Amino acid sequence: MPAKPIAIVTGGAGFIGSHMTDLLVQRGYEVRVIDNLVGGREANLKHHASNADVTLDRRDIRALVPDDTLFAGASLVFHFAGIGDIVPSIEQPSEYMSANVQGTVAVLEAARHAGVRKLVYAASSSCYGLADTPTREDHPIRPQYPYALSKYQGEQAVFHWGQVYRLPVNSIRIFNAYGTRSRTSGAYGAVFGVFLRQKLAGKPFTVVGDGTQRRDFIYATDVASGFLAAGETEKSGEVWNVGAGKPQSINRLIELLGGEKVHIPKRPGEPDVTFADTTKIGRDLGWAPQVTFEEGVSRVVAEIDYWREAPLWTPETIATATETWFKALSPGGTGPR
Ligand code: UDP
Repeated sequence: MPAKPIAIVTGGAGFIGSHMTDLLVQRGYEVRVIDNLVGGREANLKHHASNADVTLDRRDIRALVPDDTLFAGASLVFHFAGIGDIVPSIEQPSEYMSANVQGTVAVLEAARHAGVRKLVYAASSSCYGLADTPTREDHPIRPQYPYALSKYQGEQAVFHWGQVYRLPVNSIRIFNAYGTRSRTSGAYGAVFGVFLRQKLAGKPFTVVGDGTQRRDFIYATDVASGFLAAGETEKSGEVWNVGAGKPQSINRLIELLGGEKVHIPKRPGEPDVTFADTTKIGRDLGWAPQVTFEEGVSRVVAEIDYWREAPLWTPETIATATETWFKALSPGGTGPR
């Protein structure tokens, strides 16, 4: 039997990265995960525990060296490792630039020296800022906070390595990804983690504003299939949006989850709608999402116990946690308008 192709997944024990790992194993790849287990969890890989095709390297990506032996023989690299969330990025911008930009450079250098066939970067749709919708890949770039800036600069580094060193690269700008294993600890973050924990506790959902704002929620396995297509294609130097292209309101999410609500203040600089134009990835790679919002939410609810250890947010603790955010981004604050 020919040797299996080797794929590297940075952040492969994290939320989307672990779904990527699952898909690659299914498709016959040997997967080398690099994850320092700060955001990621070893439990996300536990169903592969006895599988020799999945190995875990616990280093921080910034500790990779250009001729890193871990990359020897690898054909594809999927780069998800990094740090997320808006509020901590406003409070600790240097750490975000270091992990998301310098960390990306370390991965690029290892990939370049190993002569990999393709590197696919996990970029964020937050680069578009308050965008016109549906949002195409050629929309102006307007990062609104350090997390968005750091992810965008990481993407620029990726294309720079493509240009200067001829490393074949592609980038995917992910919209609002959700699914099983989305992060459960730390900062006040993505809405699913907040709401699922509130549901478990029988507490009201903290709805920002009137809940009519819509987000382009995209299920994690659909994100992973987009990345695989971006890795296996002959094309390089491309950027693609990955979203469902069908924005859903927060009120609709609550209808599906079922429960009481309590309203909290609208956030400064918050878009009313995020909406990916996915024409380009459909045309170039034949990619289309497979999981409907109703199906995705029911899969997450079926695994709701996963969120039992997550922090339980209330209107009061959210107000405290988002104080810096409101200060930095409100008109009259020191931030961008
Ligand atoms: N949201 C909410 N209550 C919360 C957290 C978030 O109603 O406790 C809403 C928020 O207003 C936004 C959506 O959920 O419309 C997604 O928020 P998230 O922070 O997950 O992503 P982003 O705002 O960055 O798109």
